[in-house]
Order: sequence, then C-alpha cells, then structure tokens
Amino acid sequence: MELTITEFVMWVLIGSAGLVMACALLSRYLHGRVERRGLLRRVICRLCLHAFEDSSRDRVVKCPACGALTGKARR
Ligand SMILES: [Zn+2]
Repeated sequence: MELTITEFVMWVLIGSAGLVMACALLSRYLHGRVERRGLLRRVICRLCLHAFEDSSRDRVVKCPACGALTGKARR
C-alpha cells in the first residue's frame, strides 16, 4: 500500500491528538485521586477555622494553630 504525504500527515495528527487526549485523561484521573485523598485528611478547626491536614486515624485531632481539639468529619 502506498502512503501519500497527506495521509501520512493525517495519521500523525490523529495519533498525536489521541496521545494528548490519553495524557489529559490520565493526568486528570491521577489529580482527582490525589485531591480526594487530600480531602479525606483535611480538617478545619471549629474554633479558629484553620484548615490543616492530618494523616492519623484519630477521630479527634489537635489544631496546630490554636490547640483546640477538633473532631474529624465522618465520611
Ligand atoms: Zn484552631
């Protein structure tokens, strides 16, 4: 089969568009996962509204800004 330059360019364009699309979907998927994990750890102090992340499994965590004990929202 003979490939003309037009066909070649067309296939390159289709291929790169598909690659870009795949990369965009992948990065969006990974980003969403990281964000969801961050949200699970996010705690907002009920006293001073300071937002911080806590990776421990404790139900009640101590606010690093004011020291008040804050219960994590159950999800
Ligand atoms: Zn606080």
